[in-house]
Amino acid sequence: MYAKVIIEYPVKSLNKIFIYKIPKDLELEIKIGMKVYVPFNHKEVFGIVIDITKEITNEFEIKEIIRIENKELVLSKELLDVGKYLADSTLCNLITAYQTMLPSSLKIKKQTSNYDLYDEYIVIKDIKIAQEYIKKYPNRKKQILIIEKLLSDKINKKEINSNILKALKENGLIEIEKEKRYRININNKNIIKKELTEEQLKVYDQVEFNKYQTYLLYGITGSGKTEVYIKWIEKVINMGKTAIMLVPEIGLTTQIAIRFYEAFGSDVAILHSSLSPGERYDEYLKIMAGKVKIVVGTRSAIFAPLKNIGIIIIDEEDSNSYKQDNTPKYHARDIAIYRSQYNNIPLVLGSATPSLESFARAFKNVYKLLKLTKRVGEAKIPKIHIVNMEEEIKKRNTIFSDLLQEKIKEKLLKQEQIILLLNRRGFATFITCSNCGYTYKCPNCDITLTYHKSTNNLICHYCGYQIKKANRCPKCQEESLNYYGLGTEKLEEKIKELSPGIRVVRMDQDTTRNKGMHEKIIKEFKEHKYDLLLGTQMISKGLDFPKVSLVGVINADTTLNIPDYRSSENTFALLNQVAGRAGRSDILGEVIIQTYNPDNFCLKCVKENNYNAFYLQEMFFRKKLKYPPYYYLVSIKIIGKDYEKTLENAKKAKYYLSKNLSKETIILGPTTAAILKYKNEYRMQIIIKYKYDDKLIKVLKELDSLFISIKDNYIDIDLNPLQI
Ligand code: ADP
Ligand code: ZN
Repeated sequence: MYAKVIIEYPVKSLNKIFIYKIPKDLELEIKIGMKVYVPFNHKEVFGIVIDITKEITNEFEIKEIIRIENKELVLSKELLDVGKYLADSTLCNLITAYQTMLPSSLKIKKQTSNYDLYDEYIVIKDIKIAQEYIKKYPNRKKQILIIEKLLSDKINKKEINSNILKALKENGLIEIEKEKRYRININNKNIIKKELTEEQLKVYDQVEFNKYQTYLLYGITGSGKTEVYIKWIEKVINMGKTAIMLVPEIGLTTQIAIRFYEAFGSDVAILHSSLSPGERYDEYLKIMAGKVKIVVGTRSAIFAPLKNIGIIIIDEEDSNSYKQDNTPKYHARDIAIYRSQYNNIPLVLGSATPSLESFARAFKNVYKLLKLTKRVGEAKIPKIHIVNMEEEIKKRNTIFSDLLQEKIKEKLLKQEQIILLLNRRGFATFITCSNCGYTYKCPNCDITLTYHKSTNNLICHYCGYQIKKANRCPKCQEESLNYYGLGTEKLEEKIKELSPGIRVVRMDQDTTRNKGMHEKIIKEFKEHKYDLLLGTQMISKGLDFPKVSLVGVINADTTLNIPDYRSSENTFALLNQVAGRAGRSDILGEVIIQTYNPDNFCLKCVKENNYNAFYLQEMFFRKKLKYPPYYYLVSIKIIGKDYEKTLENAKKAKYYLSKNLSKETIILGPTTAAILKYKNEYRMQIIIKYKYDDKLIKVLKELDSLFISIKDNYIDIDLNPLQI
């Protein structure tokens, strides 16, 4: 028997199938979807068996498989197919696709240590011998005490004194039993169930099971989407099936996971990026072994090896975190659609601010639209004020408007809580010398360095380059360095100056670097250990704090002014979401949005909480400018160290595309990318806009392989980019 194997070299030229002979002693054990060691190029490499055959036509010498890597780990037929789809739709190698689908500690390359954990228990070897021993040595009191306990139940090895253990062992009285232990272990006996409201129930009833259909659940913030998800999942569990629930950010995973543990106890596994490799490994094997029925997790949880899936749900479906930035550049929503069709089951996309693509599909009845229009219970939609910062500057209010200052005071007096959003981390966004004009810039990238006061470092937010800040200007040696631009770190300082004694906690990438910090901040803020939570967009989604009655957006223009076709959509979603953090209980919420563009249409729609008006206007622009959802986009980057060569090869790529793609397809560029220089390499960009082009994937694959042999440049292709 022979196995068709793809091997771990993630090199484009080796993206093919190799044939190996299956040794006699493995013939019964080996299965399609298993990971194996094979000889390749005088080395031992890992591979995945994608097929097994009896006969081959190959006449060359065929080598043998060395061994199976882990018998517990078999990619199912479904996941093998998902991998093919992933590779095809993002133009990556098959082995890269499978590596992406497996949690990092299982990644074929890295399997060095053994991740399995066991608990060891002591049990009696033979009851008769034990009873005789008690009679024979009545003075060995400590031992007898343990033996008597053991006669009724096993004892964890850790609980027994090591000398006694040794004596019992030497006298042949006991044995040690191993039991697999999982790092995350939920033991929840108090299952909390909630009755759905009338509106929730109506939505609940509209989903049909055992049939593929994508639903868009458009429900305003606080309308109780999570409770409806729970009821649908309960239903599929009762049908004997399983469920995948995707959530965007790490902070949110915890909150939703807690709610799911409350509802389903130990039937839930969680998969997200801040788990340790060991925890991920355990959760993955739990799912593989069929020990859980529900997987809650971030993007890559869409590859969870659940069998017999009954529903897939994507919460906050418009979140950009569902698209992976690096290869393979997949969107979890596309994989979810594939798996739902494969299993013939419903897929639910939920959001208070659906992506334009999804809403457009619902508009055309491709997706079925479900709506939740009311907040649950007493909670009301918050009142939103837009403040013109141009007027405030005249009053010398550079950070806090009069209104925001007044409201902060008021809420503190009432002992209610406040959230402030500023979508920029660090202290100052750049430092310039007022004497000679010198500005600190990243030597590898095309941007200014951000100052972080707590560490006195200047950091590149793209590549991570950092240097210590000097007291004098590095160029003219004068003491005239000035700070510009506001970051969360400085905002924290300023709010403490404004309200002495205020208890403030900051949540951004810098304060949540350590494991568990997200959870800690959220928990402590919820317990009212702080009056005010400030942070970047990390704080905007999904969090449920009943005592928050004021949300302030320090500068709405930071996201609005990003030169990208989705900046309005992203801003609308961000502001609507963060506004939704206010007034989630019986206290009325208020939102203050500070801006230099008070007449901006997007902000007006946020103020009126009018998604429909925003949608219609934005669709009008997208149509006019030929952007999604009217056209599909492909972003192609040609990257290299030499500017001229990069431009030259980009022009050649453009020529190749125009010659081979359909005549209706629009090909723009090459131009310099939004960040021209990144990590010391230049980046040229070509944009493709198309409605329908049956040659596209084939041509892109060819272009991709043409670049294998080009020494100075490489190519990066992003289908359906979220940013260009
Ligand atoms: P969304 O995800 O739509 O923003 P949530 O699911 O967080 O809303 O619900 C908002 C709040 O309302 C939560 O505190 C939740 O526990 C509560 N809630 C939702 N549905 C119900 C219900 N049927 N009965 C009681 N409380 C509910
Ligand atoms: Zn840099």
